[in-house]
Amino acid sequence: MNILVIAEQKEGALAQSSFEALGAAQSLGGSLSTVLLAKDPAQMAEKLAANGGGKVMTVAHDSLDLFNQETFRKVVGEIIEKCSPDIVIGVATINTRALLSALAAKTGGAMASNATGLRLDGDKVVVTRPCYGGKAVAEVTTSDSGKPFFVSLRLKAFSPAPEGAGEVSAETVSDSCFESRTKVVEAVKESGQTVKLEEADAVVSFGRGLQGAENIPLIQKLADSLGAAVGASRAVVDAGWIEYKHQVGQTGRTVTPKLYIAVGISGAIQHLVGMQSSKCIVAINKDKDAPIFNIASYGIVGDAFEILPALSERFAQGG
Ligand SMILES: Cc1cc2nc3c(=O)[nH]c(=O)nc-3n(C[C@H](O)[C@H](O)[C@H](O)COP(=O)(O)OP(=O)(O)OC[C@H]3O[C@@H](n4cnc5c(N)ncnc54)[C@H](O)[C@@H]3O)c2cc1C
Repeated sequence: MNILVIAEQKEGALAQSSFEALGAAQSLGGSLSTVLLAKDPAQMAEKLAANGGGKVMTVAHDSLDLFNQETFRKVVGEIIEKCSPDIVIGVATINTRALLSALAAKTGGAMASNATGLRLDGDKVVVTRPCYGGKAVAEVTTSDSGKPFFVSLRLKAFSPAPEGAGEVSAETVSDSCFESRTKVVEAVKESGQTVKLEEADAVVSFGRGLQGAENIPLIQKLADSLGAAVGASRAVVDAGWIEYKHQVGQTGRTVTPKLYIAVGISGAIQHLVGMQSSKCIVAINKDKDAPIFNIASYGIVGDAFEILPALSERFAQGG
């Protein structure tokens, strides 16, 4: 089986998600290639090659510095024509999921998005993906169309690849690949939050139990002591306590950190679908019957205003 992984870079640095994609690809076995598009991909490509990237194909061009769906689709499209992969894998970041679906539409290949598991059944790849807001899990495969199967992986659902020596090759593509009807002028960074919610290893989220925006510093302090990002329930976003970008759940972001601490969140299904795949869930709630405790790895029944300062102090001392 020929596998092609799409690696991702931002501002000349490899995205950690690239290594997760390599881990998922390696679990299938087969012949692995990776493609990396950047203004100056050489150093990043060496790192990919040394971390299980197999044959790392790079395309270098000034216009590949910032993501442009049309340009990236054309360039990766030519690489796909060259290496005829059976499966093309990338992590479902905003850019790569747009790229994968555009490639699937252009080539007529099948697409499975947001995979949380990959396995082989004979020579077919079977993708596991949550559906109906996480209430059911579907297994998806493709009929033998002779076209690549495009799969986007849920961020943080796969472990990075073990190290492994590979090789780098600089590829050329047609000049027309770099002609685009759109021009990306600038990428503006999100202000505020230092740790990105979806990429964080730890998330401290709060809900209506926090009683008001004036108490957010208690959450921030605990998050800072853990190097965690701050999340929130929709109730507090709707109440205007915190911006929408922090919302976790069905109509917010999906997170899968190693540690998710839910403070004063009841555990409505719409919240759970955005965080229930977290590795360890700690719930703090004064109501011992709150539904959040049904999915929590550890539950603390009590008043958040007593528990938060005690936890922050303990973590700040190093646990
Ligand atoms: C279509 C749709 C989409 C939705 N999408 C989302 C979504 O994306 N994300 C989301 O979160 N919700 C979403 N919701 C809303 C969801 O149904 C809930 O209303 C919401 O999650 C509740 O937020 P909460 O847990 O903060 O508040 P509440 O349900 O009011 O819970 C507050 C909790 O705090 C506890 N508490 C109170 N005081 C303290 C204290 N001092 N110490 C400790 N605990 C305390 C209470 O016991 C209670 O369990 C959606 C709803 C719909 C209909």
